[in-house]
Amino acid sequence: MQECLFCRIARKEIPADIVWESETILAFRDIAPVAPTHILIIPKNHIPSLNEAEDPQLLGQILLAAKEIARQEKIDGEGYRIVNNIGENGGQSVGHLHFHLLGGRRIGWPPG
Ligand code: AMP
Repeated sequence: MQECLFCRIARKEIPADIVWESETILAFRDIAPVAPTHILIIPKNHIPSLNEAEDPQLLGQILLAAKEIARQEKIDGEGYRIVNNIGENGGQSVGHLHFHLLGGRRIGWPPG
């Protein structure tokens, strides 16, 4: 079985455009951006999706990291969106928990 793509990015085995990092979290630019700013924020440890996430501290740290990265990217003033896709109906394509940080343009609502 092929190993998880985002685990390999977290271990720096696969290159990524990393914009923020802590001991437990990594943030890097999405390879196929759908907005001028499109960053993925992941826990370094493997968690398949939010369904399996149990650590409230880690989840809180991810949200606070998103806020910090938005400020770093200078999109905090105009606004941005944080998205977490879960499973098939949610549109999740990579089985490692990740939050999309989207900004730099008006993001439509409702989602498609
Ligand atoms: P999701 O559809 O919510 O599972 O999001 C997965 C995201 O990962 C998509 O937006 C992809 O463009 C992105 N992606 C896939 N492979 C890579 C990669 N090697 N580096 C950065 N982003 C990636």
